[in-house]
Amino acid sequence: MADSGAAVTSPATGPAAAVQRARDGDVRALGRLLTWVENGAPELRQVLAAAAPLTGRARVLGLTGAPGVGKSTLSGALVAAYRQRGLRVGVLAVDPSSPFTGGALLGDRVRMQQHATDPDVFIRSMASRGQLGGLSRATPQALRVLDAAGFDVILVETVGVGQAEVAVASLADSTLVIVAPGLGDAIQAAKAGILEIGDLFVVNKSDQPGAQEAVRDLRTMIAMAQRAPGDWKPPIVRTVAASGAGLDDLTGQLDSHWAWLDDTGEGERRRLARAREEISEIALAELRRRLGGLPGDARLDELARQVAAGELDPYAAADELISGPQ
Ligand code: GDP
Repeated sequence: MADSGAAVTSPATGPAAAVQRARDGDVRALGRLLTWVENGAPELRQVLAAAAPLTGRARVLGLTGAPGVGKSTLSGALVAAYRQRGLRVGVLAVDPSSPFTGGALLGDRVRMQQHATDPDVFIRSMASRGQLGGLSRATPQALRVLDAAGFDVILVETVGVGQAEVAVASLADSTLVIVAPGLGDAIQAAKAGILEIGDLFVVNKSDQPGAQEAVRDLRTMIAMAQRAPGDWKPPIVRTVAASGAGLDDLTGQLDSHWAWLDDTGEGERRRLARAREEISEIALAELRRRLGGLPGDARLDELARQVAAGELDPYAAADELISGPQ
């Protein structure tokens, strides 16, 4: 039987129950929660209310770098490493710049083979579905849901290197910037402003020629970034994600970074900054919704006509939009 509206909102199957079931390991319940997140569904309010007391435990690890550097392979290797420690791992593959999930889905298939039967690994691709700003709202909410569902480590993997990826990476406790030898990635990363946000740098495909040069380029560029005494000095780790070489070093460096975040209070500062950002996003979206003010809104159309005709100035029109029809 298909879900009727009544069944979805009843206490046994409603949003709060879905959160509890996801926490108990029900993958379908978790999938449904994340679909609500992606669609901005009305159930979200109850989902996040139920999730709130259960959040704050997960470590969020952002992986960013140009397509082809080995992000999917590396996140698969990290999943394996954390599973060996007995941790539950969630992976969100996010493509901020495209409404299509082709690349991420391909990566999923590769990883799925290894982790498909493991109930303590959950992998999900998220796309913006053409909604501007959709992912900047949805990604932090998806992280909250995975956190509440009891995942110890959550990997957030972005597809490209650009401003949108920088924004997604800023949701993480630790951001990994991944490059590969010979692709000029380090230069690209510098241009995209990713050097500033990198907590750890990974030269993946270190089995290929040029790895040493890539390390040297990165070291030079990292040294140029302004850092105060006591700041974290981002290490550069060489990996061969395909074989797992360098993974112990990488997870060890991540442990050090997490300890540093805890010891210095920087982790808490980042959490607060993210919460502020999240509240503003939701508040602004809500204000926009209440104001109308979207193309096609009759009141806005009329004000626009008056402003375009010189009958009203744009400030007065904005005042009118905010205060409502007189
Ligand atoms: P992504 O686009 O950044 O997610 O990159 P993928 O993980 O899909 O990897 C791109 C290609 O590089 C695939 O063919 C991988 O098998 C390969 N690859 C990944 N890691 C390594 C590595 O450490 N060494 C080598 N030689 N190839 C790798």
